[in-house]
Amino acid sequence: SLIITDECINCDVCEPECPNDAIYMGELIYEIDPNRCTECVGHFDEPQCQQVCPVDCIPLDPNNMETEDELLEKYQRLTSAA
Ligand code: SF4
Ligand code: SF4
Repeated sequence: SLIITDECINCDVCEPECPNDAIYMGELIYEIDPNRCTECVGHFDEPQCQQVCPVDCIPLDPNNMETEDELLEKYQRLTSAA
C-alpha cells in the first residue's frame, strides 16, 4: 500500500483518480485505506495518485510492503466483491 504523509495539502486531486476508492478524507488530511490500495495493480501501470499529487507526498508505506502477487490478490478480491 501507499501512504499519504503529513505534507498533504488537501488539494483533492488524488481522491477521484483512485480506481479502488481507497482514498478518503481523514481527520486532518487525506488517507489511504491499505485494505483497498493495490498500488494500482490490476488497473494501471503506475499508481495514479502519485501521478497527480502536486507535492509528491504519497510514498510506499514501509509498514505495508506487499509483493506483486499479494497486490494482485487484493485486486481480485476487491473486484469480485464489487
Ligand atoms: Fe488508489 Fe492506486 Fe493510489 Fe493505491 S496507488 S491509493 S490504488 S490510486
Ligand atoms: Fe494530498 Fe497529494 Fe492527494 Fe492532494 S494529491 S490531496 S496533496 S495526497
